Amino acid sequence: MSKYVYFFSAQKTEGNKDLKELLGGKGANLAEMASLGLPVPPGFTITTEACTYYMEHNAFPASLKDEALTALKEMERLTGMKFGDADNPLLVSVRSGARTSMPGMMETVLNIGLTPTTLEGLIKKTGNPRFAYDSYRRLIQMYADVVMEKAEGIEPAEGMGVRQQLEKEMEKMKHELNIKADTELTAENLKELISIYKAKVKEVLGREFPEDPMEQLWGGIAAVFKSWNGKRAVSYRRIEGIPDDWGTACNIQTMVFGNMGDTSATGVAFTRNPATGENFFYGEWLPNAQGEDVVAGIRTPNPLNEETKSEHNKNLPSLQKAMPEVYQELLTIRNKLENHYKDMQDIEFTIQEGKLWMLQCRVGKRTGTAALKMAMDMLQERLIDEQQAVLRLNPAQIDELLHPIIDPKSEKKAIEANKILAKGLPAGPGAASGKIVFTAQDAVEMAQKNEKVILVREETNPEDVEGMRAAAGILTSRGGMTSHAALVARGWGKCCIVGASELKVSVEKKELRIQNKVFKEGDIITLNGTRGYIYEGELPMIDASENPLFKDFMTIVDRYRTMGVRTNADTPEDALTARKFGAEGIGLFRTEHMFYGKGSDTPLLHLRRMIMSKSEEERINALNDLFPYVKESIKKTLAAMEGYPVTIRLLDPPLHEFVPKSPEKQKELAKYLNISPEEVKKRGDALHESNPMMGHRGVRLGISYPEISKMQFRAIFEAAAELLKEEKKVFPEIMIPVTCNEKELKHQKVLCQEVYQQVLKKYQLDEIPHLFGTMIEIPRAALRADKMATDAEFFSFGTNDLTQMGFGFSRDDVGAFMQNYLEKKILPADPFQTIDQEGIGELIAIGIERGRKTKPNLKVGICGEHGGEPKSVEFCFQVGMNYVSCSPYRVPVARLAAAQANIRKDLKK
Ligand code: PEP
Ligand code: MG
Repeated sequence: MSKYVYFFSAQKTEGNKDLKELLGGKGANLAEMASLGLPVPPGFTITTEACTYYMEHNAFPASLKDEALTALKEMERLTGMKFGDADNPLLVSVRSGARTSMPGMMETVLNIGLTPTTLEGLIKKTGNPRFAYDSYRRLIQMYADVVMEKAEGIEPAEGMGVRQQLEKEMEKMKHELNIKADTELTAENLKELISIYKAKVKEVLGREFPEDPMEQLWGGIAAVFKSWNGKRAVSYRRIEGIPDDWGTACNIQTMVFGNMGDTSATGVAFTRNPATGENFFYGEWLPNAQGEDVVAGIRTPNPLNEETKSEHNKNLPSLQKAMPEVYQELLTIRNKLENHYKDMQDIEFTIQEGKLWMLQCRVGKRTGTAALKMAMDMLQERLIDEQQAVLRLNPAQIDELLHPIIDPKSEKKAIEANKILAKGLPAGPGAASGKIVFTAQDAVEMAQKNEKVILVREETNPEDVEGMRAAAGILTSRGGMTSHAALVARGWGKCCIVGASELKVSVEKKELRIQNKVFKEGDIITLNGTRGYIYEGELPMIDASENPLFKDFMTIVDRYRTMGVRTNADTPEDALTARKFGAEGIGLFRTEHMFYGKGSDTPLLHLRRMIMSKSEEERINALNDLFPYVKESIKKTLAAMEGYPVTIRLLDPPLHEFVPKSPEKQKELAKYLNISPEEVKKRGDALHESNPMMGHRGVRLGISYPEISKMQFRAIFEAAAELLKEEKKVFPEIMIPVTCNEKELKHQKVLCQEVYQQVLKKYQLDEIPHLFGTMIEIPRAALRADKMATDAEFFSFGTNDLTQMGFGFSRDDVGAFMQNYLEKKILPADPFQTIDQEGIGELIAIGIERGRKTKPNLKVGICGEHGGEPKSVEFCFQVGMNYVSCSPYRVPVARLAAAQANIRKDLKK
């Protein structure tokens, strides 16, 4: 029979940190902290299996109740209190906790067990009626919202939720009493408010607020389980790629109170600074408050200690000064936790009448900058080894490190010229500029139109996540470094500033006021999320790849990498950028780039002549004129990649793309070909294909017109020969695209050899080192790989086309329906972004296996877009590729993903 309940306390603990799948992150770490002897209030965790059971059967597993009651008895024994007791009542919190943290996405209910009977006990016991009434009022508010409304699937109109309606009652009372802060409400006021609340709950939800402690407890547990499928949680999971079938655990824990007066407090801390990675104990706390108050961003929290005070909170007392003994105890715990977990921890604590309690610890989310700094520092401190350091950054964080920052020179000038509009807390790294929007929905809509936007809010809440995701940057006027906006942005590595208190945000008017300036929707601002500075207008950006720490880290990464990383580059400039990022060659040089953009007019004209020519002679003349351009372009790129291989692919695009459409261009071409413009149009129309992606492209052109391939072979060999003569080391790899049959390859190889011999003779060389190979991008080629390998010395998987033809999804039209496929969960991810391992991956695995059966040393790589996507890179490593190739900016990401794949393989052994 399954065990559904795991107990934890300083005296007895059943779980540990490795049981995250079963106990969720929170439950597993509470158990771990309890076993380390840290002060954890006793409690128990109900497993994720109970949640999945509940979701399937809409009922709790039969054995759960007994197990939970036994655990509750044990809590009563250890605390000396009794659940539902009139004299000495035990109150509990009920919290969610999935395997990976989903900040604010699921539910929590505090103070469960408070009823008119136990309330009297609490008053007697604490001698603090105000506190007791306030706790009861909070319970009603949370419970009505979470258990009685959300969990029941009630979707009230905007602003009409029971929570807001209760809040309004409180505001009304404060207004009548002419007071501002909640804390000014007296015990008597709160007592009256409770009656008003209960009546309101009945009125809004049509049900009485439950006064049976057990009913409250099971209602809370069910609501936590149901919140796994709440709207916010589902949408967060989609963004983060978290599977829907994990479920959440539920933690029932003895309540401790940070709101029992001035010797009580609550706080959140990080064992190191999560934004910069610096080795300072960093955090925030609020005296006389409950945990939710810190995260909700309603009050600006105090700094934890003197050394981490900021511009923003320097006048507020630190915990170090206000409660020195508790601070020392917390500092000792911080060191213990770092030494134990060997990573930065994010902790939550509560101080009840001078006694410290630990409520949570977990590996803390951090920016890419911080992750890098911590990995390198911890390596030096010998807390971790090199392999662990390499595993500490996720590849997306590398991406973030390469993201733009404001050009320091321009920023210095802007600061000197007093251009800082306002300052806030630096909650998410890098810089962003964009148009101001005031709602999450506007952010999503504008981003869909490719507009860069900055989402400006008073504070964010979990309903805003989609908009936060879509925005280039996030700016809030309230909240601290642990507010919702800060947590979410940091997790995503998104530029974010919070708590910029000079900002006056009005969503109704869609207006932002900073001092006496007014900004409207669409006005542009720039954020420096690393410093917390806000500027008017757009400031110039630069990339941050010169960071010396980054270079040192990447050197270590490369020590553990066995798979090569090349780049897809079509110009010498791209090749140089990629080399700077560590590319070890070019995996795909698309020859056709020279027919687009700047300087393409003349080669394009010759290409058009070639396409539209009617006779071999016309075609050869056009090819002869085109030749010097092709050779020049190849030569420059080979030179830029000196010492490394360069895979040059023969012309591939569908020809109709190059047919002149405007009468003017048709006329120009007519003149060149000495025919009428009508004839040009006619010849162009004749090239029309119904399905150009499967049309006369790639190798098919070279089969129809061998002279087109020959011109390209000659350009490649002559470019290489001339560079060899200049004593440059170059390694061209000639690649034939869109092949599906070994005879196509054989045909091209014969032509290639013929030209090769001619060029050797012309330059009086014995050899031009090179390889002859093929793309594998048609499913048939993958299946017939043993035959393809006879004449190919290398394979490069073109996973863009392989995905297109494997799925039968048109690359150019998939946008119209992919979103539906993802939303309806027909596909787990867009297969054009991350390799579909089950289907397309199988074709790749078969291709490699069969190819190497014929040629054991066959070199294999990938040059589709997937070559820079971390999960796909790991897959390429697992199937034994020699290299991946990706766009220049993704080269460091691929290097890290490849090293991690190799380390993980060793760890699995
Ligand atoms: C591919 O198909 O994966 C590929 C790299 O070629 P292209 O994108 O140019 O078709
Ligand atoms: Mg292709």
